[in-house]
Amino acid sequence: MVNFYIGIDFGTSGTRSITINSQGTVVAQTQFPFPPFTDTWELVSLWKTALFDVIQQIPLHFRRQIDAIAINGTSATVLLCDPNGIPLQSPILYNDSRAVTVLELLKKIAPPDHIVNSATSSLAKLIWWLTAETTNTKPQKSSVCYFLHQADWLAFLLHGKLGISDYHNSLKLGYDVKNLTYPNWLINGLQSLTNLELLKLPDVVAPGTSIASITSEISEQLQLPKTCVICAGTTDSIAAFLASGAKIPGEAVTSLGSTLVLKLLSNIPVNNTKYGIYSHRLGDLWLTGGASNTGGAVLRQFFSDLELENFSRQINPNYNSNLNYYPLIKKGDRFPINDPELLPRLQPRPDNPVEFLQGLLEGIAQIEAQGYQLLQQLGATPLTQVYTAGGGAKNPVWTAIRQRYLNVNMVNYIHTEAAYGSALLAINRGIGV
Ligand code: ADP
Repeated sequence: MVNFYIGIDFGTSGTRSITINSQGTVVAQTQFPFPPFTDTWELVSLWKTALFDVIQQIPLHFRRQIDAIAINGTSATVLLCDPNGIPLQSPILYNDSRAVTVLELLKKIAPPDHIVNSATSSLAKLIWWLTAETTNTKPQKSSVCYFLHQADWLAFLLHGKLGISDYHNSLKLGYDVKNLTYPNWLINGLQSLTNLELLKLPDVVAPGTSIASITSEISEQLQLPKTCVICAGTTDSIAAFLASGAKIPGEAVTSLGSTLVLKLLSNIPVNNTKYGIYSHRLGDLWLTGGASNTGGAVLRQFFSDLELENFSRQINPNYNSNLNYYPLIKKGDRFPINDPELLPRLQPRPDNPVEFLQGLLEGIAQIEAQGYQLLQQLGATPLTQVYTAGGGAKNPVWTAIRQRYLNVNMVNYIHTEAAYGSALLAINRGIGV
């Protein structure tokens, strides 16, 4: 019997699945774009529909031979559920900053400079739930409730075991990924706000760990084998990193999407709140990185995708325009320069659009190189090889320009989707590094 593996990506605009065989070859891809919604409460049923739909779209002959499934969700999208896994409140999404109101309280609980000290962290959202004034947002005080991340809840719908998470999703909850435990400050802080007999934090395991076989009810409904294992998940951006296949310290993935995101695999964790740098655990290694506000969105401000392609072809990547831009849409950046007042530098602007584009591509490449330099200065393993994801990855001229600034091997890879990274997690039953 041939085995197949499903990776499911819950992104911001929809759900995708990728089914692969044990060699990593893609045999099926499905998707479910999210329709517009007015109330986040609708998302609970929408996510469930999307999960089942992307699986049911997979041709039956593959579905009948699925060995394992792993799901990635958006980081810091969270839910509170009753003991049957029924959400008690509308989920709070990754980018929802309502918890700005609890930042002062959070400061008293968490160590300074900890990643949870942000209005969008999972812990800030949990504390918001625990302290919200309006009764309809308060978790029930007299009965048990479970705090879960999006990926945890979706996996629960398949395996039926409530209260399990992975250490990627749990980082922004304050879980100590180095010592693999909830730290005392977190337990003590939450105890001062609620009864921890009633509030269940998830048990945290390594991403990709086999949790349980699919429930027999869901196996029948989705026509998956009863032996199909559901694995612990990860976050969307780590799944996208895993898709690259980068495994060795010094290898990195640059995402050239609307913004510029760097992720460097390192022997040593690097954390620095000033620059928004933090590290996820990947087995015995660490995935460290940062995000700049520069990126493809600036290119899109001036050029259509077609113009980007045509004008790029006319650029000689070996010649330097010396325009020295810092491309931004609006003022302010955090990484690799932390300055909320930093102004976009897009002058002088040549008449020739090809030259102007060259200046922009070089400017972003320069910021990328500066970013990797900063990570290394802070202790990360030296950069040896860069994989590229995102819309800018398909521009070979830009790759050549970036190579000039980075001076390391540049690698193109085929499967850049987060769903593919989750499918690899399902094959490896672990993070594979
Ligand atoms: P995101 O998911 O972050 O919105 P994508 O990964 O889809 O972004 O990439 C979109 C970006 O890629 C756009 O901002 C666009 O400017 C950029 N892009 C598209 N085509 C090219 C190209 N040929 N060269 C450089 N950048 C490109």
